Amino acid sequence: MASETGAVLSLSRGPLAATGGSGYERRMALPKIDVLRCLDENCQGMMAYEVTEGNVLYVDLAYTARVDGDTRYFPCPKCGGRNIVEEFTDDKGRTAHRVTRFAAA
Ligand SMILES: [Zn+2]
Repeated sequence: MASETGAVLSLSRGPLAATGGSGYERRMALPKIDVLRCLDENCQGMMAYEVTEGNVLYVDLAYTARVDGDTRYFPCPKCGGRNIVEEFTDDKGRTAHRVTRFAAA
């Protein structure tokens, strides 16, 4: 690694250093996608859904949620609790769904 550090230091004095930075910024702009985890903080079981910040469903699979009266939820495979799914309108005016809270089974 010592020789690599030397190369970076010499590049930082030239024009190539500027192009090295822009790729990093582009990666930062992508949405952060996580596996949905059970909202019970004592469980945090992994669920088969992808979410972005705020537990918004990245692929809207809300139609696969179980229905109980007015409530829609994803059952946790680990603790069996209910991860409640609610509809909302995102900042582009589209209908989306997010997991908002946990209810014990
Ligand atoms: Zn759970």
